[in-house]
Amino acid sequence: MTAPDQPAPFGGLSIDFSVDTSVAAPAAPPPLGGLSIAFAPDVATAPGGPGATAEPGDRTESKLVIVGSGPAGLTAAIYAARANLDPIVLAGSAPGGQLMLTSDVENYPGFPDGIQGPDLMTAFRAQAERFGTRIVDVDVDRVDLSGRPFRLWARGVEYRAQAVIVATGASAMWLGLESETRLRGHGVSACATCDGFFFRDREIAVVGGGDTAFEEATYLTRFAKKIHLLHRRDEFRASRIMVERARANPKIEIHTNTAIDDVLGDARVEALALRDTATGETRTMPIEGLFIAIGHQPNTEAFRDWLEVDAKGYLVVHDETNSRIDGVFIAGDVHDHRYRQAVTAAGDGCRAAIDAERWLEAQGITEANTLTAW
Ligand SMILES: Cc1cc2nc3c(=O)[nH]c(=O)nc-3n(C[C@H](O)[C@H](O)[C@H](O)COP(=O)(O)OP(=O)(O)OC[C@H]3O[C@@H](n4cnc5c(N)ncnc54)[C@H](O)[C@@H]3O)c2cc1C
Repeated sequence: MTAPDQPAPFGGLSIDFSVDTSVAAPAAPPPLGGLSIAFAPDVATAPGGPGATAEPGDRTESKLVIVGSGPAGLTAAIYAARANLDPIVLAGSAPGGQLMLTSDVENYPGFPDGIQGPDLMTAFRAQAERFGTRIVDVDVDRVDLSGRPFRLWARGVEYRAQAVIVATGASAMWLGLESETRLRGHGVSACATCDGFFFRDREIAVVGGGDTAFEEATYLTRFAKKIHLLHRRDEFRASRIMVERARANPKIEIHTNTAIDDVLGDARVEALALRDTATGETRTMPIEGLFIAIGHQPNTEAFRDWLEVDAKGYLVVHDETNSRIDGVFIAGDVHDHRYRQAVTAAGDGCRAAIDAERWLEAQGITEANTLTAW
């Protein structure tokens, strides 16, 4: 996210946000979901790129396969590779994860001037590869976790592992407007904790009708001078206490029966084109920021038949990072709908790698004392 009066940065990277959402997903999506990122040459040509099948000699078996390449998956890979587990990362069709969709990340420790999301994830990836991680940009579409070796299939290739870390994250849900996609990082955000700071003394809007929308609107009152909470229906899914708290807050104005038809602005968000869902009447609302708070979808499709999910569809962890299947571990936003931050996901990836390493050691699959590698 860039502050409203700053030029769009991206550190010289060429990123086209429109590619991955405005057209139907291609059968074999390009690495990085169509984003143009300058990875080191060996990464760009790594086996497993577009349309890849395993070549003779490609490693498809490992002590540890990590599914997902956001902060959780790549941190797990760094730890596992340094513990000589020779991990394979099945990175998904959106390598780098959610941070690839944002510009300035100002709350990841170690970067006092902030860092671009894609730059941060490029560094994570390079660090994982430096220690010998094999990364393949494919989605896992099917798994068999009935016994070891665990089996995972991606684009027709079977991968086998003694242990698995599931770090498939979650996807923020968007309204689906072209203008919303174009202005992501330029006034449109899906994360108040991450981007609220950029909207000090601004007039902004939050869209949604559940607890998250009300939480985000209330949180944003710390920064913004006025928040319009927009909801297309006349009643809310949010708990009554959250709604009452928002109603009592002088900075929040609630607009029911209000749908967003368009986000207006060329380089930055300038206004919203709104429609009254009861009367059909249209109007324009000048604002400088739009927070989409209509939910997140955990990426659990391939694992749902094997692992436990909670009422919201997130994976359930037992005893730290363990799933209900011995040898299958869980890390990051795929189970965490509370914190949803890069640093917490990375921390979780570290914990899952250490848990996997200890478990492999207990099974006699890895040698003792590899823990000194941390
Ligand atoms: C717009 C936006 C801005 C944000 N800004 C910030 C910020 O400034 N600071 C901050 O701390 N947090 C920020 N966040 C939140 C942060 O990005 C997430 O908390 C973090 O990325 C979660 O990491 P993760 O590794 O758990 O999952 P993700 O980042 O979601 O990564 C999941 C990975 O799993 C892969 N995957 C999914 N399904 C499969 C499959 N079937 N097979 C193989 N791979 C699969 C995906 O390709 C992806 O690589 C932001 C989020 C968004 C959406």
